[in-house]
Amino acid sequence: MEIIHVTAECYPVAKAGGLGDVVGALPAYQIKLGHVAKVVMPMYRTKYLYSHDWEVVHKGGSNLGHWWFDYTVIREMDNAQGFDLYLIDIHGLLDREKVYGYIDDNERFVAFQIAVVDWMSKWQHRPDVVHVHDHHSGLIPFMMQHCLGFRSLSGIPSVLTIHNAQYQGQFGWDKSIFIPSWDSWKRGMLEWNNAINPLASAIKCAWKVTTVSPSYLDELRYMSNGLEELFEYEKGKCIGILNGIDDQVWDPSTDKYFDHHYRSSNAEKGKAVHKKFLCDTFGLDQGKPLIIFIGRLVGEKAADLLPAVIADSFQHIGRKMNFLVLGSGEPEVEDQLRAMLSHSWGDFSLYVGYNETLSHQMYAGADFLLMPSRVEPCGLNQMYAMRYGTIPVVRRTGGLKDTVRDLSEEGGYGITFEQATVGDITHGVWRATQLYEDNKKMKEVRKTMMKLDNSWDKSAAEYIKLYESLK
Ligand code: ADP
Repeated sequence: MEIIHVTAECYPVAKAGGLGDVVGALPAYQIKLGHVAKVVMPMYRTKYLYSHDWEVVHKGGSNLGHWWFDYTVIREMDNAQGFDLYLIDIHGLLDREKVYGYIDDNERFVAFQIAVVDWMSKWQHRPDVVHVHDHHSGLIPFMMQHCLGFRSLSGIPSVLTIHNAQYQGQFGWDKSIFIPSWDSWKRGMLEWNNAINPLASAIKCAWKVTTVSPSYLDELRYMSNGLEELFEYEKGKCIGILNGIDDQVWDPSTDKYFDHHYRSSNAEKGKAVHKKFLCDTFGLDQGKPLIIFIGRLVGEKAADLLPAVIADSFQHIGRKMNFLVLGSGEPEVEDQLRAMLSHSWGDFSLYVGYNETLSHQMYAGADFLLMPSRVEPCGLNQMYAMRYGTIPVVRRTGGLKDTVRDLSEEGGYGITFEQATVGDITHGVWRATQLYEDNKKMKEVRKTMMKLDNSWDKSAAEYIKLYESLK
């Protein structure tokens, strides 16, 4: 089978979160299963672009409303990721440093999608599946079926994977001229709540829809930022497929972001080296359990509750633990956390920003990873943490519910709690400190977690089965 993944992110080319990790890994695992998988994404000005060699494979142009744009498709020449990687260059729109966060993101991603579909319509052959990811490529299933110029693509099955339904990419009908001339009877296939909604359009038009965990799909039917009825209506074509992790990139015995490698058999020693490094770097006390948070500092991740959780833990449990936070996001949360630094007794520290190397060192050196998320479609951090012998302390929601079994259950290996409230989270922190005092149990739990197989092998095969059902 030939599968074309269309995405805004792909690790290590450009990553803002889990979407990048997934699209950076899944195609390689599909190739391992004997298929052809390719990735098409925008050409941003990233380090990766300048450190690899590219060849031009196509040049074209199209309209975005009244504005004509030229695009160039380039392919990576050395196949560094193990799959064909194509970047779409649209001068002035896509060639920027960041993936998202610009005022004209709607225009940028619509132009990207037009270029992808325009280019595909010129191919001599037809791929077996076009697999789009989140709203940035969500208009593609509509364009393939209902845009008059791309009708030749209408027989190709499309699959949408929802990594995060909070973001839907809506824009007003005043911008409908951006979409290349389309069958106006199909207006309803673009619309949700009086706006053009790329995610809703993809849910309606894609042949199948997947979410990145089964529990997240259940939750979307009653909590999906306005799309609840649509998920209920389309439930017949939706399926949850749990994400895996790239076990080549995320392996403490080979991790390229640090030198002191370890495996399950010498995890205690190995982790102690990394913990010492982190404690020395951030002025923390190595004798206390190290609890980390890594992620976007946004409401979805319940990052706004972190300052109160840390303060309450110190007050009610005692200054028995260290907290180390890595992330960036809402300025108020960043400010509150920064302000807490002055009250630290060498037991709280913070790195505001995005730092891939530090994240790997933290998974390796921490004792516990805190994930109190309000919404967690799958969550990769907890799976990385477990592979690195770091015990997850998570809220039972979405993919966290599907991947972390509480210690109180048979064969359990994590700490879970029900609500994203300061009380429940702090209770989780208390349980972590209790567990830390039981050295034998800690070792046991570490061993169990590090043996878990959360790799992509199983899920990659599930996607193939899904594509095959569309033949
Ligand atoms: P989401 O995609 O919702 O942000 P996921 O758990 O699916 O959350 O994926 C998060 C990914 O981003 C993980 O690889 C995590 O390590 C990484 N990450 C998040 N914030 C940072 C940061 N500030 N620095 C480094 N890596 C980060």
